[in-house]
Order: sequence, then structure tokens, then C-alpha cells
Amino acid sequence: MNVAIFVRVSTLDQKNNTDSVETHIERGKLYAKSKEWNVVKIYNLAGVSGKSTINHLQTKQMFDDIRSSKVEGIIISSLSRLARNTSELLEYSKFFEDHNASLISINESLDTSTSGGKFFYTLLSALSTYEREITYERQMASLNYRRKQGKFTGGMVSYGYKIVDSEVVINEEEAPVRRLIYDLFLEHQRMSTVANELNKRGYITRKNRPWSDTTIRRLLKNTDAKGIRKCNYQGQRSKDNPSGLKAQTEWQHLPCPALISEKKWDEVNAIIRDQEKGSKQRQPLNKRVHLFTGYIKCNKGHKMIIQSKSKRYTCKHCKFGIDKDDLEDVFLGRIKRFLISDEELSEYNTSNSHEIQMKHDEIEFVEIELSKLEQKLESLIDLNTQGQIPTKGFKKHYEPIFVRKESLEVTIKDLKKELELLEEAKISFDVIANKSIGFYNNWEHLDRGEKRYIVESITNEIIFDNKTIKFKLKQIAPLSSLELNPNGQQRSTILLLGVKRLK
Ligand SMILES: [Zn+2]
Repeated sequence: MNVAIFVRVSTLDQKNNTDSVETHIERGKLYAKSKEWNVVKIYNLAGVSGKSTINHLQTKQMFDDIRSSKVEGIIISSLSRLARNTSELLEYSKFFEDHNASLISINESLDTSTSGGKFFYTLLSALSTYEREITYERQMASLNYRRKQGKFTGGMVSYGYKIVDSEVVINEEEAPVRRLIYDLFLEHQRMSTVANELNKRGYITRKNRPWSDTTIRRLLKNTDAKGIRKCNYQGQRSKDNPSGLKAQTEWQHLPCPALISEKKWDEVNAIIRDQEKGSKQRQPLNKRVHLFTGYIKCNKGHKMIIQSKSKRYTCKHCKFGIDKDDLEDVFLGRIKRFLISDEELSEYNTSNSHEIQMKHDEIEFVEIELSKLEQKLESLIDLNTQGQIPTKGFKKHYEPIFVRKESLEVTIKDLKKELELLEEAKISFDVIANKSIGFYNNWEHLDRGEKRYIVESITNEIIFDNKTIKFKLKQIAPLSSLELNPNGQQRSTILLLGVKRLK
């Protein structure tokens, strides 16, 4: 296949030295080489940042080359290099699809020249994470601009800071008190105690009021103390939006001078989160679990758990364990591999949908037979009441049909249950599929509850034998539900993955 490499490096990248045109071209060439493709052209849109690429001269050239079949596939580093938003991306993909050209994106491990890759087109509607990445890129561009201008980017500054010449700086009078708040909280772990302590020592708020636990809570939770100032999050309070917060995609996180270390901030906020979760009655205690608790077992089937203060899932009996972050890394790698693996995606595509269709057909078929039997039974009854079949002979005709009818009813019930299970498997797959593109990059931004939700939606079991981790994931085996059916064929997919960084 003759392919071309499409490079867009923004001026921002070049300035920060994070990315160079050469790196992108090198990556593209390596990928092409691994696939034994010929690189026949390179489109270089260097210096185009934030602007649409679709009207660029190089892009027009690319379209021409694809139309004339000089180029049959385009390699890019990431989707965000090609398009600014979903609709633009759709425009590109449609063109590629119409002209039978492949789109290969290295970051997203997308390759539409493969059957699994074609699945991508069906996922295009679910590109929310991709959009978020773009927003971030735009923010960084705008932030850089503002920094150059030295402008304060808007909003109020919290206790411990002030604005000087449109810039957020540390307020040296307030800063020691703000720092003290974190230290006192670590010591007492109660906001009201911190407030009382400050009042006792004679400190007051900016509004000349005594400290309250609400104020303390707000200040402790504000990320500005660790150098990240959240802006543009306060919107209009309304019936539909009681919190008055803007959509998260609109929030901006800008750097500011830190008052305390990130470690201390995280430590304090971990305590607050635990306290808040504990106080919410709707969150039962056993819900406050680690990411994989209940799913990870040793090869002898013992549950592996994290003892308090430890960072490892261990088996008490077998005396071995695995670092929780390592396990998370491997799990994430496993999901990513699933999302990009041709075999697994196409197996899902064909087998699950096919199986669901077959079940529908089977049910329909049995239902037709059933209704025929019912008609027969009714006409037998009619004939009997009209006296055309003597009651003595009636039983002989009626009984076998009745027995057959009853067994068909049981069959239909079973088939419907199997169909339901197949559809459930499809839904749990969709949970992941909908987050497919960019999912991997977005993982670290999910909170613990969201991560746990994903683990619960897709995991059957994780088995660790002190060397290898086996994942039994629900959605890779869309037919795993058949295991529940003793007559059905057994089909479960167990995948092996080496563990990196095993301690
Ligand atoms: Zn064990």
C-alpha cells in the first residue's frame, strides 16, 4: 500500500520542544515499515496551530492525491493533529471512506485498513474525550498568550493570594495562615477544630469575620494552594443547574504560585474525601473499596486484599502480592489492547451481533411453530365439542400436541433468557466502546468511583499467580454468558499478559 505521512506541529509544540516535525515523520515511517507499506509522500503543515487544517494547501494536495489513488492511506500521530473537533474529523473520515483510503493514527492505535479499525467509524459519535483533549490544547494556547501578556485571567483569588498588576501572586500576610490551616487539619482532622483554633489565635477572615468550618473546607479543597487555579467554573445558578457550576469542559486550570507541596495537599484531601464518603449514608461502608477488591484472586482462588496502609493486594495464605499501581497499569494496558485489537473487536462485531440475530430468528421460528400448535389444539377442541371426535379418541390426538406445546414454551423462555444475557454482554461492552477513543489517555482524570464503575462493568475476575495476571473480562467474551447454559458450548476468553515492574 502506498501511504503518506501527515504532520502538523503547532508553534506551541515547537517552542516547548515537546514535539518536532522529525519525530512525527520518524514515527510514521517506522509504523509504515512495520506494515511493509511505501511512504510516498509527506504533508507538512508545520506551524498551523488551533486553526482548521482542512483548507490548508497541503491538505488540498492530500485530497487530490487520494482522489487520484496516488496515496491509499494517511498516517498521523494522533487524531487531534488532523482535526479540531468531531465534525471536522467526520468530514475527513467520510472522505477517506468514500475514496477507499485508510486512516492510521498511531496514538489511538487506529488503523482503518483492518477490519477492527473500521469499527472506528461506528465510534466516531462518541468522541467526547477527544473533544476534551482539544479543549485542553486550546486552553494551553490561550494561556500561553495570556502569560505573554502578563494578564490576570479572571475570577476571584482565594485567601493567601492577591492580584498585583493583573497577576496572581502570594499574599505574604495571609499565606502563613492558609498554610497553618493545612497543618492544623492534618493534626486534628476536623474542620471545626481548625476554625476554633484560628479564632483562638486571633486570626480573622478577609471579611473580618470569625472562621467557620465551611470556609475552612472551601480553602482546604481549593487546588490553588498546590499551584493549580481553577477558573471559569462558576456559571448561573438555575433550576436545571442548582450548583451553578459550568460544564466541566469549560473549566480552566491555570498555574499559580503554590503555598504548600502537592503531597501535603493530596494527603489532606484524601482525608476529606474519605470523611465525606463516610458521612454519606447512601454510600455503605463496604462500597469504599479499592479499585480491584473483590475481583482479584490468587491462583488458588483466595481473595487478594489491601491491608490498611499497604499499597499492595496480597494473599494472606500464599504470601505474595502485587502493587496496586502496577495492577492498575496492567489493567489499563489490557483495556487498551482490547480496544485496538483487530481480532477481539471483529470477534465482538461479528459474533455478538450475529449471535443476537440468531437468537431472534430462533425465537421467531419457535413462536411460529407454537402458534400453529395452538391453532391445531383449538380446532381439535372445536371438533370435539361438535361431536366429530369422540371423547375417547380425543385424548390420543390431543395429548402429544399438548406436550409438544408445553416443551416449546419452555424453550422460548430459555431462548429469551439467553438473548437477554447476550444483550447484557453487549451493553457492558458498549460502556467501554463508547469511551473508546482517548479512553486510555483519560483514565487518570477519572475519579475512583468512575474507575471502579468501569472495573465492575467489564471484569469477571482477575487471577494472579505471582508471575502472570489473567484477566477474565466480561466484554471480550460476548458469549461468555453461554457458560451459564450447561448445554451451550463453552466460550470464554482468557488473556495472558506479562506483568511489568514486578517487585
Ligand atoms: Zn492464595
